[in-house]
Amino acid sequence: MFKSLIWSLVALLAGGALFWWNIMAEPEVKEVVPCPQLTGRVVAQGEEKYEQARLDSNYYTSKNKYPHAIVYVHSAQDIQNAILWARCNKIPLRIRSGGHNHEGYSTGDGVLVIDVSEMKEIKIDLATKIATIQPGINNSELYSELFKNGLTHVGGTCSSVGLSGLVSSGGMGPLIRKIGLTCDTLLEVEMVDAYGKIITATKDNEHKDLFWAICGGGGGNFGVISALKIKVYPAENVTWFNIGWNWGQPIKQIFAAWQDFFGKDDRAWFSHLDLWAKTFSAQEFKKEPIRIFGMYWGTPKQARELLAPILAIGAPSSVAIEAVDWKKAIELIEETTAVFITNKPEYKSTGAFAMEVLPPEGIDIIEKTLKASNSPLLNVLLFSLGGACAEIAPTASAYFYRDAKFFINYSSQWLQDNDDKKNIIELERLRENLLAYTKGDYIGNPDPELKNYLEDYFGGNVARLMCTKKKYDPNNMFRFEQSIPPATACDCCLGDD
Ligand SMILES: Cc1cc2nc3c(=O)[nH]c(=O)nc-3n(C[C@H](O)[C@H](O)[C@H](O)COP(=O)(O)OP(=O)(O)OC[C@H]3O[C@@H](n4cnc5c(N)ncnc54)[C@H](O)[C@@H]3O)c2cc1C
Repeated sequence: MFKSLIWSLVALLAGGALFWWNIMAEPEVKEVVPCPQLTGRVVAQGEEKYEQARLDSNYYTSKNKYPHAIVYVHSAQDIQNAILWARCNKIPLRIRSGGHNHEGYSTGDGVLVIDVSEMKEIKIDLATKIATIQPGINNSELYSELFKNGLTHVGGTCSSVGLSGLVSSGGMGPLIRKIGLTCDTLLEVEMVDAYGKIITATKDNEHKDLFWAICGGGGGNFGVISALKIKVYPAENVTWFNIGWNWGQPIKQIFAAWQDFFGKDDRAWFSHLDLWAKTFSAQEFKKEPIRIFGMYWGTPKQARELLAPILAIGAPSSVAIEAVDWKKAIELIEETTAVFITNKPEYKSTGAFAMEVLPPEGIDIIEKTLKASNSPLLNVLLFSLGGACAEIAPTASAYFYRDAKFFINYSSQWLQDNDDKKNIIELERLRENLLAYTKGDYIGNPDPELKNYLEDYFGGNVARLMCTKKKYDPNNMFRFEQSIPPATACDCCLGDD
């Protein structure tokens, strides 16, 4: 009897010990938590609206990509749910706003696309000249709302580019010399991170490292932008100028004169030099293949006088120099830069920064390539940079090439799928042949052919971007073909300039 009592006690103690040991050794609670539901407007593979939702980006970048589903989110809460749903179901994510990424990095096969394009609220504080916008707003929507109040934002030239993607790239537009990049006007950004947490970053708060990274560090890397606060400015009248020449005119002289004139860091001018292959049909596209156009903050009379040396080159076949309001100037610059062979072209775009004017050898490479090309729409488009953009140090934000004189965009369009290789090789060769005179590439103009894309996009800011990535997305939830990987070890000081 006594023995059995002892044994019962031992058994009881052993059972208790085992119970506690189990609890201590098994910290994981095996409770089954259901995955959160997707909220917002969900379009999944197989549904009627899937095809349209899949192609809700530039045609050439999305035509061969088949996401698992697209969720059109309507609030930060929908974004949180989408991130947590993707984590829980182990489905890769992509983020899409205006869908203008040149390589389609905002969509992909088998992914969940978080599409913010239906989040379109704009609030303008006229007294402080601050606009608070949701992440689905594009250039034209913001321009139109601001024009009603005599204001403008520092936007780009393409109306349908999303502000989320533009700010994340940096944002080059006609006000770059007068005010800076689009991201230089950013005051505050709200982002949902990889864990579904809502973060507000400003240049001075505890997330200043994230704020630093968002200005030019590229979209889709750190989380989903759910709101932006930006400075806006009075819309001024300007002089629009547009000078066109046909092939056969002295292209080298025009090129050199453009560089000489617009390479000077004069904030009263913004200009593009726009050159098309010899095969370009001026009749079909209603414009000449060689053009200098842009804006001047002064009168048409002054512009004509100052541009006289350029107007005297060869025989321009059209010259327009006129006073326009800012709304018209924005319409004209888009109309003049946008040329599409069809609404479904085969397409490739790449680019590089010219830190100095191109020497005659560089100009010669461009002329020869444009002359020899059989591509129907091979284009070299130069942007004049500098001014306010260059006043900020290259390491003061993730946008690195602040002191470049020009950005050169090389692009091409063609009609047949099977001409891809030939045209891409031609474009890459042009880029490579000019590398002796150029550096890097703009993250807003990504190119999968780059051998060292991180260095090319971010120059001396790569290490700091990787540390920021490690802090906000250590498990690399937001990744795509050319995303920023998290650092393995960080010896950079996050948030310090
Ligand atoms: C026709 C055309 C004209 C252009 N003109 C200019 C120009 O004048 N100046 C200039 O600077 N650039 C220009 N660009 C480049 C453009 O700025 C970039 O491609 C920009 O990233 C596009 O943004 P998006 O929102 O439209 O595209 P998306 O494809 O939707 O997004 C671009 C990138 O940002 C990410 N992203 C989108 N939304 C969010 C979000 N809410 N949160 C986090 N990440 C997000 C995406 O994942 C993707 O990586 C042009 C591009 C095209 C195709």
